Amino acid sequence: MTMTQPDDWTGWDDGSAPSCAVEGGADTPVPMTGIKGTLTQGAPLAKLVWFKCGGSADWLFEPADMDDLTHFIERLDSRFPVMALGLGSNMIIRDGGVPGVVIRLGKPFAAVEITGETEVTCGAGAPGILSASTARDAGIAGLEFLRGIPGTVGGFVRMNGGAYGSEVADILIDCQVIMPDGNLITLPACDLGYSYRHSNLPDGAIVVSARFKGVPGDPEAIGAEMDRIAEAREESQPLRTKTGGSTFKNPDGHKAWQLVDDAGCRGFQMGGAQVSEKHTNFLINTGDATSSDIEGLGEEVRRLVYEKSGVELEWEIQRVGRP
Ligand SMILES: Cc1cc2nc3c(=O)[nH]c(=O)nc-3n(C[C@H](O)[C@H](O)[C@H](O)COP(=O)(O)OP(=O)(O)OC[C@H]3O[C@@H](n4cnc5c(N)ncnc54)[C@H](O)[C@@H]3O)c2cc1C
Repeated sequence: MTMTQPDDWTGWDDGSAPSCAVEGGADTPVPMTGIKGTLTQGAPLAKLVWFKCGGSADWLFEPADMDDLTHFIERLDSRFPVMALGLGSNMIIRDGGVPGVVIRLGKPFAAVEITGETEVTCGAGAPGILSASTARDAGIAGLEFLRGIPGTVGGFVRMNGGAYGSEVADILIDCQVIMPDGNLITLPACDLGYSYRHSNLPDGAIVVSARFKGVPGDPEAIGAEMDRIAEAREESQPLRTKTGGSTFKNPDGHKAWQLVDDAGCRGFQMGGAQVSEKHTNFLINTGDATSSDIEGLGEEVRRLVYEKSGVELEWEIQRVGRP
């Protein structure tokens, strides 16, 4: 069974950068002859991330397909750093922008297929909700938690995304990755060095697909669990705001939100950034925040939490680029 992205895909803010195909030249990171995707210089990234702020990518490449991506990486001048971007749901793009090439896998990498009795193969650009609902329709349980995480499979695999007691490390069989030298390799889950919200995937490595294993289940029961997850999130998280999800990792034996709350930071503001009133481990952009406001607020929260409890909070949100 093959499914592609849902009809309401555009509702996921797929917002492609302005099109501006660049032909090969000395000042481009790659000779573009024969490459079908779009390479954009100085591409604004704010509209591609949940916080809706931050600078531009020096270059943004949106590959047309897998071969295109492989050719691009093989030819890329090694002086250009590479960073993959999913739906930017766990990302502060700093105001000075991102050096090198940002690679965004969109629709061409968003297919989800049932490839075994309890096995689901997902393109790295597929959103969690599509992965979970395809598994549900095939009677495969165990992927329900992906329903509530608003990123792509590539982001989940790198971040070991998780919720409600499950995480990617529990269900990943293996993933296909394009390494910085252009080689496509298959990495079994045990080689990813998974721990809480962390993998040891090297910088510049791009996940292009992942195979997940579930267990046989009843589609109706799986659907009910997905609905329960959706409702629980709606109640407890500021889902309809410009945010980056959980800001800090839960330290051993503590809940980050509780530490932030106990330090008196609920509703605390810096410029246009605010600690959410609804969930104190979420920072929100109230309208016109800069990334510097958001990161600065996060650092101030860390300082106040340390002062109050002696616990050093560790950022879960990835902060990238030039200040
Ligand atoms: C409202 C809200 C709720 C959230 N709830 C949860 C939750 O319950 N559990 C949870 O774990 N997270 C949660 N998050 C955070 C976020 O959704 C996850 O971290 C998710 O895995 C990020 O996916 P993404 O595609 O948006 O990645 P991005 O934010 O775009 O990137 C995150 C990291 O992954 C890397 N990356 C992205 N794609 C690839 C790829 N193809 N190959 C290699 N590296 C890649 C990026 O370079 C970056 O380092 C939440 C976020 C929001 C906004």
